[in-house]
Amino acid sequence: MEELISQPRSRFLRVKCSDCGNEQVIFGSAASKVKCLICGKTLAEPLGGKARIMTKIVSVLE
Ligand SMILES: [Zn+2]
Repeated sequence: MEELISQPRSRFLRVKCSDCGNEQVIFGSAASKVKCLICGKTLAEPLGGKARIMTKIVSVLE
C-alpha cells in the first residue's frame, strides 16, 4: 500500500457514547462496525472507505 502523507486516512478519533457516556478510541476509517464496549451501541459504521461516526466526537488524535 502507498502512503500518501497529504491524505491522511488513518486518524484515530476519541468518541463518547451518547447512550452510556463511555469514551473510547476508534479508527477513523473503520472497515467494519464499531460498537461501544460497554453498552453495545453502534458508534461508527463504514461508508465509502471512511467511518461514518454515529456518536459524539470528543477529539481527533493525529
Ligand atoms: Zn455505550
